[in-house]
Amino acid sequence: MREVRVRFAPSPTGALHLGGVRTALFNYLFARKHGGKFILRIEDTDQTRFVPGAEEYIIKSLEWIGLDIDESDLKGGEYGPYKQSNRKHLYTKYALELVEKGFAYYAFDTPEELEAMRKKLESEKASVQSYGPKTRMSMKNSLTFGEEQTKLMLQSGAPYVIRFKMPEDEKLVLKDIIRGEIKADTSILDDKVLYKSDGMPTYHLANIVDDHLMKISHVIRGEEWLPSLPLHYLLYRAFGWLDTMPEFAHLPLILKPDGKGKLSKRDGDRLGFPVFPLHWEDPKTGEVSKGYEEAGYFPEAFLNMMALLGWNPGNTTQEIFTKEELCQLFSLEKVSKAGAKFDPEKNKWFNKQYLEKKTNEELADYFIEDAKKDGVEVDKNRAAEICGLVKDRCHFSHDLWKESTYFFIEPTSYNEANVKKFWKEDSGKILLQALEVLKDETDFSAKNLEDKISAWINQNGLNFGKVLNPMRLVLAGECKGPHIFDILAQLGKEEVSKRIEKGVKILG
Ligand code: GLU
Repeated sequence: MREVRVRFAPSPTGALHLGGVRTALFNYLFARKHGGKFILRIEDTDQTRFVPGAEEYIIKSLEWIGLDIDESDLKGGEYGPYKQSNRKHLYTKYALELVEKGFAYYAFDTPEELEAMRKKLESEKASVQSYGPKTRMSMKNSLTFGEEQTKLMLQSGAPYVIRFKMPEDEKLVLKDIIRGEIKADTSILDDKVLYKSDGMPTYHLANIVDDHLMKISHVIRGEEWLPSLPLHYLLYRAFGWLDTMPEFAHLPLILKPDGKGKLSKRDGDRLGFPVFPLHWEDPKTGEVSKGYEEAGYFPEAFLNMMALLGWNPGNTTQEIFTKEELCQLFSLEKVSKAGAKFDPEKNKWFNKQYLEKKTNEELADYFIEDAKKDGVEVDKNRAAEICGLVKDRCHFSHDLWKESTYFFIEPTSYNEANVKKFWKEDSGKILLQALEVLKDETDFSAKNLEDKISAWINQNGLNFGKVLNPMRLVLAGECKGPHIFDILAQLGKEEVSKRIEKGVKILG
């Protein structure tokens, strides 16, 4: 195989969405698998769609996920600059080369004339309704004007575009690594604009020229670019670059959770899951979107779940993979053709697996941060101990603190449903008796308390639930949480007495 050089080529038109993340990730994994290079190229030729901050956002997102870039404007590299607006000077000569060779032509049609053509074709119900092989000879371009008039038009400074001259009737058979053979009939394709008289290339020209100049070996991108493949192939052919043309792989769509159509931002808003990796504030609309980072996802978990959207290594039920394992296992042949259903619940599960794998000390750092936000200082050892107690109830790092605030902040109310279910007429009396036992304890460890309270319950012929449920309720505000004796031990004798007495007073 030739030297692997792949690029992620986003346009800075907004936040990086999940489809973009997955494209970047598959490019990255492919590069690492083959010891190749992962390149970031910013495709900003369409200045009208430029969104300030988008490029920085893309870079920060790749960093957060852990996709290290080998070549980019920040990183450097032999083939820079890596931003198309800074490569503007390069494209003109290629556009002119295509005109000279007869593969492209000047077109001078005004927007009104183009609109008139569109309307006419629509009213005639023409089988192909675009500027192309069937219509170009009735339009204002260098093919209909001839050399002299074209020269005059250009000299007069009339605005123009350069269009690709799509072959009239050619049947192409192209190759896609994921989809196999792709057939295309050029007679229904249009003469795409490649270059504008303001000196800016369009996506198609810049993309092909840059892939060629940057020696890209494989183009791995979303399915939405598949319709552009015939044109891209024809551009390589026109330039005489077929021998070094990259191989193509078009990734399947990411589908809505119900599998009906492409996942959109609206699905995320409607169903309550983020569609961007990081927090994003749209500079135009001011709209704020939460990211996976803020939602409490670990970057490793996010990377793992994204890798399995449309790919799996086959022959295994394994779902948890480190980045290193993925780099080893990844192959484009195992990417599926069918769309990949997005499953927000499964994503939570992924995060939980990673949370459980972390040590209590690692989790303590998140805990301490979140506690601080509520004005509570917790030392690392205590935080780690509590994380160990509550982590199997948590999916996200934020849950750690949420699940344990009552260790630090006295409950201000009691869960109504739990009160109804567990607080009986004699609960107050029983708890005060239990408190007498607890008050005599000098060893307030969970183990000792369990022994003593259990013995006391047995000796008095009481029922465990009748003692421990109301106790949990007054200590934690609701009947959930870790082992009750761990709660007692964590709170300490004084706090336990205070909460039991208060609870009995309120609940009676
Ligand atoms: N700039 C294109 C995009 O925004 C890149 C498509 C390609 O990879 O060729 O997706």
